[in-house]
Amino acid sequence: MSENSSIDQLIQDLQTSNKRYASENQGTLEKFVNGQKPKIAVLTCSDSRVIPEFIFGKSIGDLFVVRVAGNVPMDTTVLSSLEYAVGHLKVDLLIILGHTNCGAVCAAEKSTDEYNELLSEIRQSFTLDNNHFLSNVIRQLDMLPKRSNVISKAINEGKLHLVGAIYHLEDGIVKFL
Ligand SMILES: [Zn+2]
Repeated sequence: MSENSSIDQLIQDLQTSNKRYASENQGTLEKFVNGQKPKIAVLTCSDSRVIPEFIFGKSIGDLFVVRVAGNVPMDTTVLSSLEYAVGHLKVDLLIILGHTNCGAVCAAEKSTDEYNELLSEIRQSFTLDNNHFLSNVIRQLDMLPKRSNVISKAINEGKLHLVGAIYHLEDGIVKFL
């Protein structure tokens, strides 16, 4: 009973905030109803502290964002989402944005579970740099074009720039590699 009422409270809070958002953004919402043309795609972590639109001061229609734990483009759903941004929306820039104190990277450091695909993937980057938040981004920059023909083709044709960056939770600064 008390659990239900706390969930009700959470949903009520979301609805209140959502109504405010809808009224404050009516003009922009209408502008983008029929399509989007973002120039930038961002692959970043699902971490609640890493919010690309906030970090880069962007808004509706500005960024095509894919978020997955550890910002690892590995499975077909993540790759297909990024391919949509590159092949269909024709973004100019794709950023793989890692971050300090990433829980997925820390879990990969602690775990020896070779059957966890995500953690194994992150662990494979550890030889690339002593800073594993960085090494993970370096590996994914290398692996993404190898895993996607659409993306490697766009890069080779000069239509897409793929860059890596690290968001620093401590001070909010993004350092591009
Ligand atoms: Zn993370």
